Amino acid sequence: MTIPDPSPEEIKTELLWAAQEMLRTGLVEGTAGNLAARLPDGRVVLTPSSVDYATMTPEDLVVCTPDGEVLEGHRSPTTEKALHLTVLRTYPELGATMHCHAKHVTMFAITRQPVPAVVEEFDVYVGGDVACTDYRETGTQELADEVAGRLADRAAVVMANHGLFCAGRRPRDALHVAALVERTAEIVWGARMLGPIVGVPEDIGAKYASFYRFGRTGSF
Ligand SMILES: [Zn+2]
Repeated sequence: MTIPDPSPEEIKTELLWAAQEMLRTGLVEGTAGNLAARLPDGRVVLTPSSVDYATMTPEDLVVCTPDGEVLEGHRSPTTEKALHLTVLRTYPELGATMHCHAKHVTMFAITRQPVPAVVEEFDVYVGGDVACTDYRETGTQELADEVAGRLADRAAVVMANHGLFCAGRRPRDALHVAALVERTAEIVWGARMLGPIVGVPEDIGAKYASFYRFGRTGSF
């Protein structure tokens, strides 16, 4: 039995849910943060700019071509449109992207540190250490190119002096990655006060990271 691909309506509903969960779980404040997802026909749905998540409806979402031409919607797309579209164009196996201002990850972002893959679960769902970008200004193509370049075979990137970028197959996957990277950033921050961190043995980390890559691309 094969599971049918989700319909455009299902993807939009899941995107909206993930956006509201992003706010509810404290990954952003106010109208900050944004998401995008690829529709079955290759178009991309994005969250709008500056709309309250609590009252956001599917009609507020914006549908674009992969190159950014707006096709549907009465709102302006997120100011990070280039960021989401560049990543989705670069990695055709990814179906959804999310950007948020997770608090503990942003502590790594302002000290320009990667979030290390120090728990097995992190390797499985994120694919290894999460790099921190060089600084690029919000909303620019330069930021989009920097994030897309750093993402590579991982599910997330720390954005210097800004926040977190995550990706997955579906919006719910990108949300899960964001929660896991934020949780791990908090754990690492706290653990450093207890003493030196001992990482997952290298061969074990590599094995679990290969599970992530297989899930993403279908090959080890
Ligand atoms: Zn932001």
